[in-house]
Amino acid sequence: MTKVSAFDDLPRERFAHLPTPLWRHDALDAISGGPLWVKRDDQNGGAAAGNKVRKLEYLLADARRSGADCVLTCGGAQSNHARATALCSAALGLECRLLLRSDDGHREPSVGNLFLDRLAGAQVRWITPSEYARREAHLANWAADLRAAGRRPYAIPEGGSNALGSMGYVRAMAEVRAQLDAEPTRLPERFKRVVVACGSAGTAAGLALGAARYRTAENVIAIAVCDGRAHFERRIRELCDEARRSGLCDLDPVPVRVEDDFIGPGYAQSSSEQRKFIKHVACTTGLVLDPVYSGKALFGLSRLGLGDSALFVHTGGLPGLLAQAETFSA
Ligand SMILES: *Cc1c(COP(=O)(O)O)cnc(C)c1O
Repeated sequence: MTKVSAFDDLPRERFAHLPTPLWRHDALDAISGGPLWVKRDDQNGGAAAGNKVRKLEYLLADARRSGADCVLTCGGAQSNHARATALCSAALGLECRLLLRSDDGHREPSVGNLFLDRLAGAQVRWITPSEYARREAHLANWAADLRAAGRRPYAIPEGGSNALGSMGYVRAMAEVRAQLDAEPTRLPERFKRVVVACGSAGTAAGLALGAARYRTAENVIAIAVCDGRAHFERRIRELCDEARRSGLCDLDPVPVRVEDDFIGPGYAQSSSEQRKFIKHVACTTGLVLDPVYSGKALFGLSRLGLGDSALFVHTGGLPGLLAQAETFSA
């Protein structure tokens, strides 16, 4: 592959266990209108596993190179990104500080992701949803206070979604290319589409750039789990533009379509139909989805009949499922 960008030379930490499997199951094909392959990024590590680990390989390498001694980021109380950042920072000996959103701005129960944040020694500050709307400013203020106290903070945006973080999914597409080339009888030459949950858009943007560069799929379908189509289409475009401007990846992405009909009652809240779907998939295939992201995304994929020759990226999220156990009737 000819070198087309700084992407090839980016410093990278090794957190993920790679390559993750391309997995298939007959019962899942029947549910989704397959043949559907699942990129098992839920298996890319232990407690830190999920899509954020691939972003953090680049983000925390950048933190180290810049001489940081602590890492700041933000998210919901059950943020998978916050948990992965807490654990990966701990692995590098970097302190981790988290700005987390809670309904009333007070501490939430220490279960699921939040339990792991605390286990990894992360320091948590709570903010209300209205304060969270200005999260970038709050993170910048916290970083400024730390600098004034002689510290060297490195701030990561929500979801690890900037151009550098999204390079984790350009790299994931290089990995898929190598997998397709190595098993031409079991796997297609390329996929019709890649389908993924979309919460802060960095994963979808990286997949769109990577699919173009490595010819792994014709387009990307991003299933929104919080905001609507217009918001995410703009964010994905901005991230691809940022990648180009900063010299990371000067390619046009493959087309991305955002589907926003599967958000359900709201972010981190699922419908009983979605929970039934998650339970059905677990019972018939052994695949465990989470109710916040991957469950809604695969639910949308199957409703839209998009399984045919598709790649579904399972982005992880297991601790968020465990934190919601009581919403699932056995
Ligand atoms: C964060 C997350 C996503 C969404 O990825 P973005 O890059 O934020 O759009 C999907 N699935 C899981 C499990 C996540 O934690």
